[in-house]
Amino acid sequence: MKKRFGKRDFILIAVLLAAAFVIWLLISRTKFAKGASAVVTVDGDVYGTYPLSQNQEIPIMKDEKRTNILVIKNGKADITEADCPDRLCVHQKPISMTNETIVCLPNKVVVSIEGSTESGIDSIAK
Ligand SMILES: [Zn+2]
Repeated sequence: MKKRFGKRDFILIAVLLAAAFVIWLLISRTKFAKGASAVVTVDGDVYGTYPLSQNQEIPIMKDEKRTNILVIKNGKADITEADCPDRLCVHQKPISMTNETIVCLPNKVVVSIEGSTESGIDSIAK
């Protein structure tokens, strides 16, 4: 008896592939969740925590005034704009490794990286 490769087999394979994809997605998301985050503190208070895996632009406000703009791009955190007179924070290189910091002394803004930047993150992103 010859069994032909029928439509039902295709559906079964499609379902299995979809399930495998979902599982892979969950695993990679979990890994991202364990990845590094940029922690912003203003005047010693935590302003926010932002995962490096997500490209975004965060305006840092203080007293309804925008003091700095933190940009997270390609797994790195960088201050791209600031209203401080020295603009040292803007000139600092983007950070991505645990315990690296960008400090804006005049605005009392500190951006630090927490969590592990496994080398795996790059390979997941590709
Ligand atoms: Zn600054």
